[in-house]
Amino acid sequence: MKKNIIVATCSVLFMALIAVGILKPGIIRSLFPAERSIPPTLSLSKNDESFYIQPLKKKPDPQKQMVFYFVPHADDEVLTFGVPMIQDLKQNKEVYVILMSHGDITGARARINKRINPELTPRQLGQARVNEFIEATNRMGIDDKHRLIYDLFLEGGDREQDYGRVKTIVAAYAKEYPQAEFKSMSIFDVHPEHAIIGKAIQELKNSNRIKSSQSFASINIMRTCKKSPRCSGKQQKIGMPTIERQIQLTEPRDKHILSSAADAYRVWNPKKGWYSVGEISVPGQFRELKKDPTTIIVKE
Ligand SMILES: [Zn+2]
Repeated sequence: MKKNIIVATCSVLFMALIAVGILKPGIIRSLFPAERSIPPTLSLSKNDESFYIQPLKKKPDPQKQMVFYFVPHADDEVLTFGVPMIQDLKQNKEVYVILMSHGDITGARARINKRINPELTPRQLGQARVNEFIEATNRMGIDDKHRLIYDLFLEGGDREQDYGRVKTIVAAYAKEYPQAEFKSMSIFDVHPEHAIIGKAIQELKNSNRIKSSQSFASINIMRTCKKSPRCSGKQQKIGMPTIERQIQLTEPRDKHILSSAADAYRVWNPKKGWYSVGEISVPGQFRELKKDPTTIIVKE
């Protein structure tokens, strides 16, 4: 009898825990403080319960210069940051790569879905992009401990909320690691999700919360956008960034690393979850990178 009461009590408690986990995941997460070791430094809006700052999986080596790359979408880490990232790793810097979105919403999904059955949902497409990002960063020498993946820029999302979250994320790492360099894209980028990361870093620098930063012009704004009247019209309204200097890979081995990382975005093997999303989304940008991987640092 006593045993039955204990079993029944445990069952009720277990069911209650599962119910809380489903209805209020934030409460369960807060039971595990390691998950929240970096508190958000800016206030979050009410519907931000699923959003929290991810702590680094490995503390940086104090002997090494630490660098953060904030990557708006899977493929930007190769197309825009591949050259400086490979250079930073060669200089023995401790490089952390932070992907800000899964990128569920892309015109590439319709193109891919014409070639496969069953079709990919936006979430499955986003997961395929994340897989390409993981493979590309692995090929550049960035391991899982130096990689974090957020889930911003969702469909129907609110641009202001996205900006708030980007700034919250960058500010949290800047507070915890003030000695780090913060690298991302130009505020003049025609793609708003690229530009807002640049803007967040610029504002944090202006308010002295970031000491060291660097901005890069995407291959799109420097080259491919100019070939499309619609894109170049938008870019003209925004204006172009001022070029500070160009950087290049000179050693064949480094060029091979970059080329191999770019090829992670070309793998087509639907049975195993590879859909060549990067290549199907922006073939022109990958072509330009292969032709000439010169990368532009801009003044901001
Ligand atoms: Zn992008």
